[in-house]
Amino acid sequence: MTATVKSANLGFPRIGLKRELKKAVESFWKEEIDTAMLMNIARDLRKRHWGAQKEAGLDLIPSNDFSLYDQVLDMSATLGAVPDRYAQALGYTPGTPVDLDLYFAMARGRQKDNIDVVAMEMTKWFDTNYHYIVPEFTAQTKFALSSTKVIDEYKEAKALGIETRPVLIGPVSFLLLGKGYDGVEPLSLLDNLVPVYLDILNKLKDAGAQTVQIDEPFLAMDIDSAAKTAYENAYKSLGNCGVEITLTTYFEGLRENINLAANLPVAGLHIDLSRAPGQLDDVISALKNGNKTLSLGLIDGRNIWKSNLENLLTLGQKAVNELGADRVIVAPSCSLLHSPVDLAEEIKLDEELKSWLAFARQKLDEIKLLADALSGQKDESAFAANAKDIQARASSTRIHNTDVKDRVSNLKESDIQRKSPFDQRIVAQRQHLGLPALPTTTIGSFPQTTDVRQARAKFKRGEMNRDAYEKFLEEKTVQAMKWQDDIGIDVPVHGEFERNDMVEYFGEKLNGFAFTKNGWVQSYGSRCVKPPVIFGDVDRPEAMTVFWSSFAQEHTDKPVKGMLTGPVTILQWSFVRDDQPREITCKQIGLAIRDEVKDLENAGIQIIQIDEPALREGLPLRKVDWPAYLKWAVESFRISSSGIEDTTQIHTHMCYCEFNDIIDSIAALDADVISIETSRSAMELLDAFVDYKYPNEIGPGVYDIHSPRIPKREEMETLLRKALKVLRGDQIWVNPDCGLKTRSWEEVRPALVNMVEAAKTLREELDSNDVKAAS
Ligand code: GLN
Ligand code: ZN
Repeated sequence: MTATVKSANLGFPRIGLKRELKKAVESFWKEEIDTAMLMNIARDLRKRHWGAQKEAGLDLIPSNDFSLYDQVLDMSATLGAVPDRYAQALGYTPGTPVDLDLYFAMARGRQKDNIDVVAMEMTKWFDTNYHYIVPEFTAQTKFALSSTKVIDEYKEAKALGIETRPVLIGPVSFLLLGKGYDGVEPLSLLDNLVPVYLDILNKLKDAGAQTVQIDEPFLAMDIDSAAKTAYENAYKSLGNCGVEITLTTYFEGLRENINLAANLPVAGLHIDLSRAPGQLDDVISALKNGNKTLSLGLIDGRNIWKSNLENLLTLGQKAVNELGADRVIVAPSCSLLHSPVDLAEEIKLDEELKSWLAFARQKLDEIKLLADALSGQKDESAFAANAKDIQARASSTRIHNTDVKDRVSNLKESDIQRKSPFDQRIVAQRQHLGLPALPTTTIGSFPQTTDVRQARAKFKRGEMNRDAYEKFLEEKTVQAMKWQDDIGIDVPVHGEFERNDMVEYFGEKLNGFAFTKNGWVQSYGSRCVKPPVIFGDVDRPEAMTVFWSSFAQEHTDKPVKGMLTGPVTILQWSFVRDDQPREITCKQIGLAIRDEVKDLENAGIQIIQIDEPALREGLPLRKVDWPAYLKWAVESFRISSSGIEDTTQIHTHMCYCEFNDIIDSIAALDADVISIETSRSAMELLDAFVDYKYPNEIGPGVYDIHSPRIPKREEMETLLRKALKVLRGDQIWVNPDCGLKTRSWEEVRPALVNMVEAAKTLREELDSNDVKAAS
């Protein structure tokens, strides 16, 4: 018998085709269903997903890829890494099983039955839009097997007649994903942690498991020598446990860690060939004189495009030629968690577009086709059909717009340069706008109350006609304008009542974008998002926001701030076409926004904000790649902001991120004003701007919009005084941390009244200081 190349999956989306998991978990939280019911629904989903993978003919099917909330939180529960405050609040004894109550308290906090604990911290999973619960470590952290989930789910599949490969997050990555408190260095806990992994692996072996997938994505990241040593130590102990271990790496290439990874005493290594196809040759050389299997991450687990099977076959063939078929496995680049479930159920996209796409279920078939072809069983007709679709997409007129392509390639340095430098522009703007010192404004959105959301839903369902819907939005906008005038906001906004989402709104108005009905992916916990699909060259058929900004301007004498989403954020929160560099797509979006900015200016809007909250999210995982990204990201923003007169003032907004390490790029955006989140950290985030001597104007947020609390006027005054200590008085704006769409008017009204009052007080203090300084 000839050797065959095996097919594997690394993880299947767990939310369910119709977001069943979301609905079940949320019903459980509302106590509409009990634990048994929730467990039943979860078990059904696992069964369905294992069944789909079996049906696709995969050899290695994952288990323990399911989670009720998050796989990293599951690992914390499994390893007994329960922070003390939950143990105390919920009377948990370390080392005993973590129950659902405790699990969800860690995930979301808990405020019920006299128990009041906040949630564990959540952060982004590498450079994806998935968020995980950050493990917490202190000197007291003791690890002990505290959940048998991984063993139970292995047995559950086995009982269904499906042999699986359990998935674990590896010990080194688990520690590196976490945060040490009281000066504890997470990696120093490795020696206590490894025995628990051995315990798990032994129990899996006893249950019949022959092989496990251990995720160690940090092998593909920038790591220091302590982490490298930790890898060697951990796998010295785990490598000989009697269960075959495949170490999975993803989202980046191994680069300088190739030898480290190749020499760890495990059975197999998985690499991401979608992100880093260039690493194949080096990895093959490193593995050649041994007997490790190489798992080829050929199918992109993070995007939605149909694979070019013929190209991937060539890549796979190289590995088979060098290592032999029995040492090669075909797999997705990473877990399919990051792609939507099933294209077959997609009803909104047209057939042509659908023929270019593959969701998780379709990717399973691609994996199998490749593995079979590499085993000498090529399905010629399936490959031919694939080649036809790939060809049709490449040559489709819907994708290519020569005018847009030319516009990007003809961009000149002067196109990304305002007419004059900031110090000259600001003089012109001050004259033109006549604003007081410490001008007050907001970040754009006002409360998206139930009536606003209901009207939109009715309009979308065809139950409300366009006229009635627009009339409704006009009323809302007029009210907001009048109210801002009444309380004395210096730079009012129209309120964004017409927008569902800051990216979707623009995507729906631009060419080159498509929207799915069912393309949900998990963002965190029960939260799912439906990213727009950027499939073609982007251009703007007509003005997108001029109507609402002009309408608002008609209702006030103050200068209305126009509100746009920036090109980097639009790119970052979409599924982006894979047939041209992201830079090009981003610059095309930049040009569309540029035209909108110009139209707003022509319509008499004197201040325009271009939001870029996702600028930092786009940073590459490896630091050496940062400058290249930052260069085109900054250029894309400047494409959108530079085509106007000096007197027009450009604002930008960023929130909830570290600014320190990219402060020079933030300055290079050359926005006249930036508003940033600072209130929660009591202005600490300003340090970066101060150390850098940020020249332009800044609005450090004084109102934490993520809390229902109404900040007192005195609190905001204190924050402003802090800001005034480190920034020039003529440099500061007064605004909330972010948009107000998630808040209620009952909170927003008093909070903004207080904010305006605080600004007035500080203005007076500034004046009297000036008088003092002059005399
Ligand atoms: N202008 C947007 C709003 O106010 C900004 C949102 C954001 O930064 N995420 O809603
Ligand atoms: Zn924001």
